[in-house]
Amino acid sequence: MSLIRIIFIVFLSVASFTAVLGHEPVDLDMVHRIRQEGLKNSQIRDLSFHLTDVIGPRLSGSTGLRNAYEWTSKQMEEWGLSNVEVSPWGDFGRGWENERFYFAMTKPYYQHLIAVPRAWTRGTGGEIVTRPVLVNIRDEKDFDRYRGKLEGKVIVTPVISEPELSFEPLASRRDDDELQRLAQYPDVVSPDYGRPWRQQSDWFTQQVFSRKVMEFFEDEGVKAILNASGTFGVVRSHGRGYDVSDEPGLAQVDMTFEHYGRIVRLLEAGVDVELELEIENRFLYDDLKGYNVLAEIPGTDPVLKDEVVIIGGHLDSWHAGTGGNDNAAGVAVMMEVMRILKDLEVLPRRTIRIALWGAEEQGLHGSRSYVREHYFDYSDGGKKPGHENFSAYYNVDNGSGKIRGIYLQDNDALRPIFEAWFEPLKDLGVNTVTLRRTGSTDHVAFDAAGLPGFQFIQDRLDYARSYHTNMDTFERMQLGDMMQAATVVAVLVYHTAMRDERLPRKHFDP
Ligand SMILES: [Zn+2]
Repeated sequence: MSLIRIIFIVFLSVASFTAVLGHEPVDLDMVHRIRQEGLKNSQIRDLSFHLTDVIGPRLSGSTGLRNAYEWTSKQMEEWGLSNVEVSPWGDFGRGWENERFYFAMTKPYYQHLIAVPRAWTRGTGGEIVTRPVLVNIRDEKDFDRYRGKLEGKVIVTPVISEPELSFEPLASRRDDDELQRLAQYPDVVSPDYGRPWRQQSDWFTQQVFSRKVMEFFEDEGVKAILNASGTFGVVRSHGRGYDVSDEPGLAQVDMTFEHYGRIVRLLEAGVDVELELEIENRFLYDDLKGYNVLAEIPGTDPVLKDEVVIIGGHLDSWHAGTGGNDNAAGVAVMMEVMRILKDLEVLPRRTIRIALWGAEEQGLHGSRSYVREHYFDYSDGGKKPGHENFSAYYNVDNGSGKIRGIYLQDNDALRPIFEAWFEPLKDLGVNTVTLRRTGSTDHVAFDAAGLPGFQFIQDRLDYARSYHTNMDTFERMQLGDMMQAATVVAVLVYHTAMRDERLPRKHFDP
């Protein structure tokens, strides 16, 4: 290679490097300070421990979630954050908590059963000793076979599909190939987008029919229903209605598939099975509201301080575990971001606000209501005054895995900005900017309002097998990964709060 050519290449690479950084300023001194604080002085462990082990399950409307409002807001006050507030977002419904649960098979031999009561269902009114009944209702004609025969019974339904043997690894990180694929925009015909209409209509028909079956069981005076949910002793939580205008549903138990399958096989073979079951649940009607927890580092620029950068994640969890991956991880990371920035005494031009949302699991209620109140009316497409002063929303809710990149939600204008901000974080594994959209959590509330709202690309780890289960606990939280995540988010939030302009928005037609 000739010397001139080498000089030319060196010139080109320097020119392009400064061009990127020059176009979108990066404060390398602040990056250094944030990395030191986030990686060497982390509070992630303590935050994670409190949110899971000390506070416990944080089901919407439960005492646990109320304790979480109190603890997180107190903690953020102690750090010196401003405008700390437990702010009602609207009416949620009745609270529910399980107070006692005992479940065992006593015939043909004794064995305790791994199970979790279904949220917002009634209890059994004391211990019952009962022979379960196999009920197989496929269509409405089957109702007659069981009419008058189910009063006071515990029922199980036959097993329709058995869990398949899995050869997948228990946990995984995203490798370079996968990240590269993710960085490519998907084909418009990709099955990523929407499921076929037929499948949806089947699902709907099924929903309507299962509602009828449930009404039949209620009318017949069934005592409790057993369901299979999860395998390997891992039970996935579910819930019934929490709306105060509906009667609480009859007692239901979600069981690990192995224990459920055995009961079904024994009953099908005509073996005498006896169960002991006691469920004591409490409904809370004293406060039907839902809340978000808010706190701020106020902006300091005379012009930009009314503009806001929000970070958040949902504080509520399901009740079977302590919501480690989903979503104490996101809450701990976002609280740690605020702690890092506060301890570094940053003076952001825009206001940086944290929002710990309520009732995400029941349909993004906390975040949607917040957006509706301050930014955008989804029903008529009307923008509220805050819409103009909003820069960006960042969310963490995909477990405790490292941040590997960001989904731009189709907004092309953001690519050079995030590429510049990721440059000094590449050694932490952050290198993927994809135009793709991702859904299913609180950033959607902002995205749907025409506001820049983001969820990160995270390493999956063991999120898929743990979320919503009895085993989603402190042990699922990879603290080193979370330290990385807090450091990365703090760098992004700081730069979002400091840049001259708001983050560019994509075209939005409400
Ligand atoms: Zn979640």
